[in-house]
Amino acid sequence: MSLSVASDLYIGGEWVAPSSGQREAVINPATEEVIGMAPVGDRTDVEQAIACAREAFDKGPWPRMSMQERVAILGKMLGWLESNRGRIVDLIIREAGATAMLAEFMQYGVPMKHAATMLKDALLIQPKYAPAEVTPNFTGQKVLGTAITVHDPIGVVACITPYNFPYFLNIGKLYHALTMGNTAILKPSPFTPFEALIIGEAAQAVGLPKGVLNIVTGDVKTGELLTTDKRVDMVSFTGSDKVGSLIMAQGAPTLKKMHLELGGKSALIIRGDADLEKASMDAIAGFTIHAGQGCALTTRILVHNSIRKAFVERLGMMVGHMKVGNPADPTVQMGPLIRDAARKRSEMYTEIAMGEGATLVCGGKRPVGLDRGFYFEPTLFDNVTNNMRIAQEEVFGPIGAVIGFDSDDEAVQIANDSDFGLGGGIYSADAGTAYEMALQIRTGTLAINGGAGTMLSSTPFGGVKRSGIGREYGIDALLEFTQAKSISFHAG
Ligand code: NAD
Repeated sequence: MSLSVASDLYIGGEWVAPSSGQREAVINPATEEVIGMAPVGDRTDVEQAIACAREAFDKGPWPRMSMQERVAILGKMLGWLESNRGRIVDLIIREAGATAMLAEFMQYGVPMKHAATMLKDALLIQPKYAPAEVTPNFTGQKVLGTAITVHDPIGVVACITPYNFPYFLNIGKLYHALTMGNTAILKPSPFTPFEALIIGEAAQAVGLPKGVLNIVTGDVKTGELLTTDKRVDMVSFTGSDKVGSLIMAQGAPTLKKMHLELGGKSALIIRGDADLEKASMDAIAGFTIHAGQGCALTTRILVHNSIRKAFVERLGMMVGHMKVGNPADPTVQMGPLIRDAARKRSEMYTEIAMGEGATLVCGGKRPVGLDRGFYFEPTLFDNVTNNMRIAQEEVFGPIGAVIGFDSDDEAVQIANDSDFGLGGGIYSADAGTAYEMALQIRTGTLAINGGAGTMLSSTPFGGVKRSGIGREYGIDALLEFTQAKSISFHAG
């Protein structure tokens, strides 16, 4: 069954066919069926989208509106997206391969909550008044003066997103950029174009001024053009560290502001006094949610050696009971990987881990009876050491690696011995010690005993080291999509 979603590019407030006429089949990773034909944007389309976004920023009403006016329009857009909840959740299941529960709550519900919070947070942003100072002017005369600092939008923002949480990340990027008065061009992954195009339907339905939002689908070439054109002022990118560093280089000649949310290899530390029932559920989720295709998943499971054997047995048993299959079935707990290449990567890392001496506890192959779709069994390794590739490299598949430790210091040292620093967790009955350990771990976010339940909407999210530069969510993150401007004047 094909989708009822817009299938043209959204440029300057209009739906336009790709200038090359080229369209590409998008498939459901669970069944390999074609769900729609997505437009492939080329240079002409990107040029047009940039021109429209530039014009809307330089001459249009959007950057000149008050925050209240923008918040009202973007709130209406959220209302439209809310009234299309069923369509969007269905799209997330069929395009990204998310299970029904993951699609409903994490991939759809959380970004809607985050966006609504952003609109509230943005209204709290006010100009800042500097304390009055006595300073000499250029003739040496004393002047009593002060300044007001206002936050101007940056300009045209290129938002480039990956395939794993497409709707979540598209909404996240656009609500940061647009709320703060920028205009945007969204370029999603070629595997998940429709979760971007549907936002164009919302923009058109609520009368977002023309050119404020433009959506160009396509692959690397489209992204390259957006990151090299001098009319684009900022790039907000979520994706792999490899592409993140390429984009930084591509944007350097035109000195674009860079906001990069990249990969991870986060550590979940299970101390000897942890609540093993809760810790084991989190440990399983940390490598099986969305078949391991999550940036902040805790795919390194650091377990105190005194409890490791029993803990690994428990994990192995739980994984053995997981239902893998078509995510359209609400009883399924883990769906497919996005494409065959991603499954091959999981197979390759399974071989590498075994070759390096890790012990395969369970999984490691394609599930029996699932011949269509890109499935791979939830896979757990024990006896992993942190120098192995399975502990250092992002697999982006359902593979967890258990590493033993004997002291808190050793656990912190292992957690920090990584090129990445995005998520993390600690389970312990001693919350004070867990907090002290958390302070020593170099990461962007960390949850003690499961954290706050779901993701908080005003708490900054982002990485350190190769996990990225900059933050999303919260007032400081909104301000990353602005430039401070100081207007000074003297008293009297
Ligand atoms: P990717 O880096 O391969 O691609 C991401 C996007 O960049 C796609 O739209 C792609 O077409 C585009 N792109 C590729 N090369 C480009 C170039 N040279 N110039 C401009 N654009 C280019 O990522 P992916 O495989 O789609 O997604 C998985 C990665 O995303 C993982 O590494 C994961 O950790 C990361 N991720 C990070 C976060 C976070 O918030 N930190 C969230 C989700 C996913």
